[in-house]
Amino acid sequence: MSMTLKVDACRSCGAQIVWGVTEAGKAIPLDYPADRRLVMVGTRGYSSAKYPGAPDVRSMLAFVSHFATCPDAVAHRKPRGDERREA
Ligand SMILES: [Zn+2]
Repeated sequence: MSMTLKVDACRSCGAQIVWGVTEAGKAIPLDYPADRRLVMVGTRGYSSAKYPGAPDVRSMLAFVSHFATCPDAVAHRKPRGDERREA
């Protein structure tokens, strides 16, 4: 699978981000680059007899919301002029 993601910069802290779209259709800033991680997609198990109760996992790109890591996240959530810093 080959994808080209458009890398942007956080307007607040300048960190590299890409924009994602949630199930609700909202744009969300994501830390970039992402990590390739094993994500649980079910609980059926590859072979229930061999691995009873084991989760089904797939290798996927996993992003962290930039709202969780941005040093200016407090300013994002509670916009107050006196707390804004120039990057
Ligand atoms: Zn930021």
